[in-house]
Amino acid sequence: MHYLKDISEVRKKISEYKKNNKSIGLVPTMGALHKGHVSLIESSKKSCDITVVSVFVNPIQFGPNEDFHKYPRPIEQDIKICEEVEVDILFNPAVEEIIGDNLKTFVDISDLGDNLCGAKRPGHFRGVATIVSKLFNITTPNRAFFGKKDIQQLYIIKKMVEDLNFNIEIIPCSIIREADGLAMSSRNRYLSEKERIDSLVINRTLKEAVKLIEDGEINSKNVISFFENKIKEINSAKIDYVNVVNENMKNVELIEKGNIIAIAVYIGKTRLIDNHIIGEKICW
Ligand code: AMP
Repeated sequence: MHYLKDISEVRKKISEYKKNNKSIGLVPTMGALHKGHVSLIESSKKSCDITVVSVFVNPIQFGPNEDFHKYPRPIEQDIKICEEVEVDILFNPAVEEIIGDNLKTFVDISDLGDNLCGAKRPGHFRGVATIVSKLFNITTPNRAFFGKKDIQQLYIIKKMVEDLNFNIEIIPCSIIREADGLAMSSRNRYLSEKERIDSLVINRTLKEAVKLIEDGEINSKNVISFFENKIKEINSAKIDYVNVVNENMKNVELIEKGNIIAIAVYIGKTRLIDNHIIGEKICW
């Protein structure tokens, strides 16, 4: 595996691969890798000759009061995981390498970022889209792999690729969960033992809400209040948002197949997100 920190080194290596007609898969991450990330890497390895994983904690996607400084950065462990699953390039640039001190150009993702996480984290998706564009330009992948765990991010990147004519196929990957159903996240490590148990209210209630819908409930207001009432039962839990949205990330009143129930809940100080696309199989 090539562990690279410089853009020029990555470009050089990728152009060698491309000269040999190798296809490139990119898995962008912020590191603290877990099985969710590994599933993206495995998808890339299945359909691309070369897999590039980027580990970059992107400062411009964090708000001033968010956890940028606290975000876990266990790079030695990440290197080990990437070596074990036979990643070809692990790109781990410094902030100065990617952002410098004079970044003036940003990707405006318009109203796709007005709801859900975009509404709660102003500027977040502008920061994501800008840095993902830079990673696309640096690594020039044929395919890029994104988890459905960050569903709004996935839809925004798909639209950005279409609108800005990136010649890249975006591959959505299923949410990977712990055995008890909690969606895997680098932030789960912030949870105390008690909070880890409390956090199960998220996936448990999501599952129950989806069951309500499958049993015929089509009014999103009823599903949302069901969710809110269940979350209130757990002292450490506080809803950040719960919405049912369509593919344009707009709230819907009447639920139909393909809509997404998307939630963000604080467990203590840790903000966790989860979602389900209506019509897809519940597998937890
Ligand atoms: P992150 O490191 O949190 O920025 O995530 C990097 C990529 O991994 C994103 O495309 C995420 O959606 C994806 N990802 C994170 N957690 C999971 C999970 N539990 N299942 C599937 N994909 C995930």
